[in-house]
Amino acid sequence: MTVQVTVLGCSGTHTGPDRMCSSYMVESANYRLLLDCGNGALSNLQRRWNVADVDAVVISHLHPDHFADLYGLYYALRFHADGPRSVPVVAPLGAWEFASQLLDSADRFAQTCRFETAQAGDRLNLGPFTVTLFASSHPVETLGSRVQAGAAVVAYTGDSGPTAQLQHLARDADLLLADATWLERQRPLPTGVHMTGHEAGTVAAAANVRRLVTTHVFPSVDPNEVAAEAAAAFDGEVVAAHDLQEFAL
Ligand SMILES: [Zn+2]
Ligand SMILES: [Zn+2]
Repeated sequence: MTVQVTVLGCSGTHTGPDRMCSSYMVESANYRLLLDCGNGALSNLQRRWNVADVDAVVISHLHPDHFADLYGLYYALRFHADGPRSVPVVAPLGAWEFASQLLDSADRFAQTCRFETAQAGDRLNLGPFTVTLFASSHPVETLGSRVQAGAAVVAYTGDSGPTAQLQHLARDADLLLADATWLERQRPLPTGVHMTGHEAGTVAAAANVRRLVTTHVFPSVDPNEVAAEAAAAFDGEVVAAHDLQEFAL
């Protein structure tokens, strides 16, 4: 079964010039699964698809750079030219209560974005995909996703510092989308928040992935320097993510 991954946002924490925040479209068998919907991602999404083409959304955690464009998706679906649409949104506990505080109609939000609570250890069946959720290491509850269709596996860390869970998340994956926000030379850095390029490379090596995509790079950091740092720790292919980049599995 072929799987196509399109980067809709690879900037970490805030947008940069031509780099939106975290979002990845994963497609197979004409089903479109959106992993995160960070600020700016909806703009990139509409370069390739209609908003009504999204079959399900999985939100890793409730930081704005991972869910802020859910608001745009909500309005785009509610006021869609072909009539109101809705989409299932899988997210950590309390997501709807948290996100709806910015809106004047929490009920309409829930009708359009049909929130379902998930937690680490859950296994979701979404179209052709089996999505297994893992606990990432981050200041708020964060769910990494292992997305499988047939023999193809895409692993997405969400935001995460180094943790043994990431090796399970990414074990033998064809593609690992890894938080690689920082560089080793920037230390001291906060612990349990994000990885450096080196740490992302170390995870990729330990998990024996086929291809590592370094992403969620902080806007003032050079993505190619992050990827080079990762490549020094991992013998496989390393790619520095950029917006609208496509991967075929
Ligand atoms: Zn983030
Ligand atoms: Zn975060």
